[in-house]
Amino acid sequence: MSKPPPSSDSIFPKPDYGKTPSRKKEMPEGLWTKCPECGVYIFNKELESMQMVCKECGHHFNIPAHQRIHHLLDEGSWVEHDAEVSPVDILKFTGTTSYSDQLKKYQKKTGLKEGVVCGTGRIEDHEVSLAVMEFQFLGGSMGSVIGEKITRAIERATERQIPVLIFSASGGARMHEGMFSLMQMAKTSGALSRHAAAKLPYISILTHPTMGGVTASFATLGDLILAEPKAMIGFAGARVLKQTTRQDLPKDFQTSEFLLERGLVDRIVSRLQMRAELARMLGYMMTRASLPPSARRNGRPAAARSQVVDLNGHASKS
Ligand SMILES: [Zn+2]
Repeated sequence: MSKPPPSSDSIFPKPDYGKTPSRKKEMPEGLWTKCPECGVYIFNKELESMQMVCKECGHHFNIPAHQRIHHLLDEGSWVEHDAEVSPVDILKFTGTTSYSDQLKKYQKKTGLKEGVVCGTGRIEDHEVSLAVMEFQFLGGSMGSVIGEKITRAIERATERQIPVLIFSASGGARMHEGMFSLMQMAKTSGALSRHAAAKLPYISILTHPTMGGVTASFATLGDLILAEPKAMIGFAGARVLKQTTRQDLPKDFQTSEFLLERGLVDRIVSRLQMRAELARMLGYMMTRASLPPSARRNGRPAAARSQVVDLNGHASKS
């Protein structure tokens, strides 16, 4: 069909500007992230440099394990261990999809063999053994390999006489591995008990979310239990509890803030302050023996006694 001739009053035909640039083109996907808490759009590069914390409201986004480690440790001090230990589908479990397929999918998505990254490094010159859970890997669920890697991280710390730090982020035990998954609760707790007997500190850091068998084992066995702000921490989910107890749950139930008030969490620490705070705590916990007796009170440095009122367990007993 040919174009109609321009009308007599249209002296200048409408110029062809081409396609109007869409809004999508102005804000290409993958460059910006909208904060679910305050609604502000944040440039991804900026968000990463802020350790995935919203600059407006302080909302803590999920942070990949390796990114967390990068921000936490002294530069060049990280040595990863057991990166190649892979999970196996021992029960040949099939739900909506097979467990083997799920594993392959999440290995590809995260670039990790399993949902925890373990190794050693230094925080302001304090050597530590570190385990950081990766929530993006099957919801950080605890299977046999997660339990094994965390146990090795604890045993490595005991052997080298250094503290162990575990960052939890998990929906709980991994149903695909049934009983093998639940056994990891006893295994990790046993290793922590031997670490405690060697009078070495364990700092547990709870991040969003820490639930189920992880909460019920190593995550809440810390000499010091820190939590990121507004993290969901609990055992059974709120919906299940409400159905079982048939009672309305309190406001802020299963949050870091709720648990701090009730004594399960010792301190809430922003991710941006985490490195400095851990260095300070490690200083209190690890320099005790090297201080002169005049600086100690009940075996603990005077400074630590006045500032850290919430240390518990073996670290303060010796
Ligand atoms: Zn925000």
